[in-house]
Amino acid sequence: MTDKQLQLGEDDAFLALQNAWQHALEVLAEQVNKPSFESWIKTARPLSIEGNTVRIATNSKFAKHWLESKHIGFIRDILESDMGTKLTVKVELVESQEPAILTEKLPTKPKSSPKDNDEPISLPLNNQYNFDNFVVGPTNRLAHACAMAIAENPGKTYNPLFVYGGPGLGKTHLMHAVGQTAMTNFPGMKVAYVSGEAFTYHYVNSLREHKAAEFRRKYRSIDVWLVDDIQFLVGKERTEEEFFHTYNAIYDMGKQIVLTSDRPPKDLRLDTRLLSRFECGMIADIAPPDLETRMAILETKAEYEHIALSNDVILYIAKLITSNVRRLESALIQLHAYASLMKTSVTPTLAEEVLSKHFGEEAAPVIDAQKVQLEVANKFNIDISDLKGKTRSADIVMPRQIAMYLIRELTDYSLPSIGKAFGGRDHSTVLHACKKIEEKLTSDKSFASMVNELARLIREGKNC
Ligand code: ADP
Ligand code: MG
Repeated sequence: MTDKQLQLGEDDAFLALQNAWQHALEVLAEQVNKPSFESWIKTARPLSIEGNTVRIATNSKFAKHWLESKHIGFIRDILESDMGTKLTVKVELVESQEPAILTEKLPTKPKSSPKDNDEPISLPLNNQYNFDNFVVGPTNRLAHACAMAIAENPGKTYNPLFVYGGPGLGKTHLMHAVGQTAMTNFPGMKVAYVSGEAFTYHYVNSLREHKAAEFRRKYRSIDVWLVDDIQFLVGKERTEEEFFHTYNAIYDMGKQIVLTSDRPPKDLRLDTRLLSRFECGMIADIAPPDLETRMAILETKAEYEHIALSNDVILYIAKLITSNVRRLESALIQLHAYASLMKTSVTPTLAEEVLSKHFGEEAAPVIDAQKVQLEVANKFNIDISDLKGKTRSADIVMPRQIAMYLIRELTDYSLPSIGKAFGGRDHSTVLHACKKIEEKLTSDKSFASMVNELARLIREGKNC
């Protein structure tokens, strides 16, 4: 930082900019997924304001590109509205930044070999995501046990490990814990944590800059490869092809691979060669935690954040928010912030007042016929118009009946209104469909697990 920028710190305009920046961070924290937010947004900071030009510092080329291509307009809108003036926002790469905002929460950078003098491929690991503060319960026990075994013995136990589950259930947390524990246990190992999005970006960039050979060399030197949210690769053919070759190269060298996704391999529309490789390893799902686990997570978090909470309040929150740990945590933080602001203590009545409206609605996202039809059509690779149409072929009739059954189960639609959602069918047709599916559910186990999985996807939605 130059002297001039230091002086600007005392300047009113700069103070206003810092406040507006904090506000922008709060809004973005709600909109951007957590690892990306932690890695690319939280590490950025305002540098200066001169006239109407604001300079924002980032610490990597990727962060700069990411902010510029995705969020700059949104950030500018918030800064402009908070500061009451039109602004030009410039994002700059500042090699050695001072720690941004919360020093103790800064991520640790995985080691890279000395010859990598350019950008490392790994995203930073967040040291708040460790095994010590991961609460284990019946719905994440398997994924947790596999992750621990891998961190103790990379490449030797479950390979690959494929973890899937809905949003906010701890997939990324476990991945970061594996990466950090493996680095501690085996200091020489090269651990690389990437998201499907970051892999795509690296690959496309390497093509643009004619550095494909370097891209491959870097990826092939990894000992523990953690790939988060691989569903991002779906539909990106060339990236998927490159991913396939990278995967094979790393796997064939006996190195460890861990993957996460929001759905099981069989529901990912990726090349079957890739899916069959995933299926060779260990597949572990994470489902929403049960009530006791939710309470334990809240207690752990409250203790960590030094928030005093009575058992009644913990029970209230744990009953209100059932399907997403990220929401559970943010309810706790919001409640605490509200109580501190109002200088009052947290009681169940206050919790209800502050949380019931917002979090109650969020915990139970609205499910309508269209949402169910969309998910069913996706699953069976058919069009919604087929579901609503008159075709009587078996490969359409079964999905149509499943969709009718799920709407009956998951929504308040009456039989006639379900019929209406399927091109004006009679209520007795809907009833017949529901009965057929109910029969099959009791007689066919794999059919039942497929329908349950569909119901889970619909309930959780994928908008987090
Ligand atoms: P996902 O990657 O599945 O969307 P994350 O790993 O980002 O979810 O988890 C969301 C938040 O919930 C994180 O803050 C994480 O620390 C927390 N979390 C999830 N599961 C647990 C758990 N079992 N114990 C403690 N914290 C958890
Ligand atoms: Mg995640």
